[in-house]
Amino acid sequence: MGRFLRPDLFLESVYAIDPEKLRRRGIRGLVFDLDMTLVEWMEQRPSPRLAGWLGNLSGQGFRMCILSNNSHQRVRSFAAAVGVPAISWAGKPLARSYRRAMRLMGTTPATTAAVGDQVFTDVWGGNRLHLFTILVLPLGRRQSPHTRFLRHLERWVLRGVEVRHS
Ligand SMILES: [Mg+2]
Repeated sequence: MGRFLRPDLFLESVYAIDPEKLRRRGIRGLVFDLDMTLVEWMEQRPSPRLAGWLGNLSGQGFRMCILSNNSHQRVRSFAAAVGVPAISWAGKPLARSYRRAMRLMGTTPATTAAVGDQVFTDVWGGNRLHLFTILVLPLGRRQSPHTRFLRHLERWVLRGVEVRHS
């Protein structure tokens, strides 16, 4: 089970993702977690930096989908603001919503990367389907009690996995 919990890449933030490196790996679509990956927990609006960065990826031809375990209400307005399709109540790490995201993007496991801040949802879910998995450090300090509990387990899983800066 251990290998399913290790990300292929561990970065400081989504801004450290190098689109050109992804392209060389054959990646054409990106599945993004929302809370603490793209924005702080429950933050409703994207920062101008984030909106610009997502627009840049889209301009380079990458397909994108937000995949969140949070509610429809929380995800919908955010997704509309950045113009990226979203799946809420995703049930990560279950496979079903990843398959749905890939259908939306027209990609396959070999051409899809999953990006998120949590090992037990984002990394595990992506690895189960053999996507390229990118773990990022959580954005902000606010988090749900459930997430706080999982962080303790994450620290144990991630022993020896180093954060890279690009
Ligand atoms: Mg998250």
